[in-house]
Amino acid sequence: MKKIAIIGAGISGLYLANIFKQNSDFKVLLFEKNEEINLDDGYGVQLSNNSVKLLNYIGFDQLDNSQKFFPDNLDFYSIDNPDKICDLNISKFNSANNKYTTIKRSSLIKFLISKISKDDIFYGHNISKIDLQEDQIELSFSNEYSGKFDYLIIADGVFSKSSSLISNSKNSLKFNNSVAIRGTINRDKIEKINFQNISLFLGANFHYVIYPTSENEDLNFIGILRKNLNKDRLKNYQQFNSSDFVDEIVSEIPPTYNQIIHKLDNLKCFPVFITDEILHLNNKNIFTVGDAFFAFPPSFAQGASQSIEGSHELFQNFSINETEKYFPRRLQKTKMVNKRSKFNQFAFHLSNPLFVLTRNLIMKRLVKNEKFLENYLGKIYDN
Ligand SMILES: Cc1cc2nc3c(=O)[nH]c(=O)nc-3n(C[C@H](O)[C@H](O)[C@H](O)COP(=O)(O)OP(=O)(O)OC[C@H]3O[C@@H](n4cnc5c(N)ncnc54)[C@H](O)[C@@H]3O)c2cc1C
Repeated sequence: MKKIAIIGAGISGLYLANIFKQNSDFKVLLFEKNEEINLDDGYGVQLSNNSVKLLNYIGFDQLDNSQKFFPDNLDFYSIDNPDKICDLNISKFNSANNKYTTIKRSSLIKFLISKISKDDIFYGHNISKIDLQEDQIELSFSNEYSGKFDYLIIADGVFSKSSSLISNSKNSLKFNNSVAIRGTINRDKIEKINFQNISLFLGANFHYVIYPTSENEDLNFIGILRKNLNKDRLKNYQQFNSSDFVDEIVSEIPPTYNQIIHKLDNLKCFPVFITDEILHLNNKNIFTVGDAFFAFPPSFAQGASQSIEGSHELFQNFSINETEKYFPRRLQKTKMVNKRSKFNQFAFHLSNPLFVLTRNLIMKRLVKNEKFLENYLGKIYDN
């Protein structure tokens, strides 16, 4: 039996630990730097059909529907105009057992953890050294634990320490010139939107999304505001946990846009980092998945879904002993998703009134164009 170490118990690492239970040729151990998993209760995540289908392989369809929500449409609005621009039927890609889903992150993570044996997850294990030996990989952690493995899967997120321990190439991360604003909002505080749908509000250099994660609870809010932060500020990540940073961001949102912000609970702001260049690790026994492989701009809501999809592909490649096929295939899909994510962010944040008018007219046509939808979304939601 071959031994696999996974670094990082986020969505990617946890999905992998679950799916590898289906292949008894491998023993998987999961190492997480935190003493427990931060569940950030209340915040949501969108899961498109590509990831729901794969999650169903590990029993997601058995999770009670009261913990999930299945939106019908994606409604587009201008922040400063009460009339809806148009709507896109995202449920058109659904099948009986595989539906576009919104869910609390905490519910998804709890589901993923519930199926992993406690003996296979090691909390409080911060990777500190990766020693490449002839046929094995020796891992050392800050708590002085060390162990030898046949394979290493790096799933430690956008700031991947593991990748930097084995690669000499320059940092492949880039600040996305934007800040994410996260919160929840009580249904009584919001008018005009359809609670069956995802509502996307577009404004100059700012867009936000509101969606339910269950039938009756508070709605999830996520906004992306264009903002420059200089290198010195970005170095000090701790400041972003402070209420001063939240106040600074809120004060920068124009008054016509910020009424919604004052209605939010559990408000948090943080800078968004994306991958600039994909790192190809030249080692046949080491792989990266999820945000450690590639972090997308968050305007296509594909990060978690791609993390699951990439992890599943890697599992399949292990099962047929063709792990060399993982990187080229993942690269291809990543490029497709990245292009769309960047384009969405550009289109969502237009500020020139003439461009906005043109964008809205084009969008009204595109959301009803089957060929376009199949190409723009279908290709991503299919796997
Ligand atoms: C604002 C915003 C909104 C988003 N919304 C969506 C959405 O609606 N839908 C969607 O699909 N995606 C969304 N995403 C993206 C999605 O959240 C991520 O792509 C996904 O969570 C990545 O999962 P991961 O497991 O690769 O990394 P992470 O979730 O970052 O997990 C990494 C894990 O590794 C651990 N770790 C880190 N360093 C070490 C170390 N040195 N040693 C050991 N362990 C370590 C961490 O503690 C963590 O548990 C959004 C992203 C942002 C920024």
